[in-house]
Amino acid sequence: MSRLAVDWTRCDGHGLCARLLSEHVSRDEFGFPVIAAAEISDADESQARLAVSACPALALRLEQPART
Ligand code: SF4
Repeated sequence: MSRLAVDWTRCDGHGLCARLLSEHVSRDEFGFPVIAAAEISDADESQARLAVSACPALALRLEQPART
């Protein structure tokens, strides 16, 4: 399980992530992503990685949970 995160200093709001990961990301009225479900299941991870690699601003990332 990993978590989806946006670097707001980089995101330019073109919404590619919302198109590629519509079950997890929607868009606000300005086009910026709204992460509705940050937790990414193992089944969705390959699609999430595709969205991360497709982000033109390098603003989207997958974070691994901290180990305790
Ligand atoms: S694809 Fe990247 S730059 Fe575009 S809205 Fe998503 S996080 Fe922001």
